Amino acid sequence: AGGGSDKIDYVFKVVLVGDSAVGKSQILARFARNEFALDSKATIGVEFQTRTLVIQHKSVKTQIWDTAGQERCRFIYSALSPATYPLSTITFESWMANSSDLAMDRLSWRYRAVTSAYYRGAVGALLVYDITRRQSFDHIPRWLEELRSHSDRNVVIMLVGNKSDLEDQRDVTKDEALEFAQKENLFFLETSALKATNIENAFQTVLTEIFNIVN
Ligand code: GDP
Ligand code: MG
Repeated sequence: AGGGSDKIDYVFKVVLVGDSAVGKSQILARFARNEFALDSKATIGVEFQTRTLVIQHKSVKTQIWDTAGQERCRFIYSALSPATYPLSTITFESWMANSSDLAMDRLSWRYRAVTSAYYRGAVGALLVYDITRRQSFDHIPRWLEELRSHSDRNVVIMLVGNKSDLEDQRDVTKDEALEFAQKENLFFLETSALKATNIENAFQTVLTEIFNIVN
């Protein structure tokens, strides 16, 4: 593909996964539009953005999927099925007090439908936590399990510790994240969507690896 050509050689779907507020939408905004918003609103539903890169002389269009409704849905669902998703303790009582069996059935159905659509066809994933929020790192194994159970066996995964600009509030060490990544066979980087640190690198690494797998 020469300059100015519209020819697309590959389309790769990459999903952003992780707790709410870790910075997924800002990572996407930085990568797709080189933008950042400190007061970003929670993402409603699912959205995706694209960016086309050249990798080894081929033009690779990347669709990056971002979500928020799913996080909330997952949270509630985990409260409903503590055996399957032993995640949360709060809001369970109040949810139970206000919910019918039908509502719960609908919710779990909806959760599963949204989840499988989200992961379907994904060849790469950024598994994001916030280095200043321990809990978001502690939830990573569950996100990883969900990701692996819904996507291709070959899915390329990058563990991302975001908000590296907030070093003075750090709550997760680089070493423990690296250890986890090595154990689970994931790439690992710390990023800052705010300072644009390693965002490009994170996507480039994942996309190049996918590229090498399909070639
Ligand atoms: P999401 O729920 O995972 O999509 O998280 P958002 O992208 O909406 O970000 C949540 C909050 O964290 C927002 O206030 C962002 O401005 C902020 N944020 C995101 N990335 C960074 C970062 O790299 N550094 C800092 N300091 N704040 C960030
Ligand atoms: Mg978001």
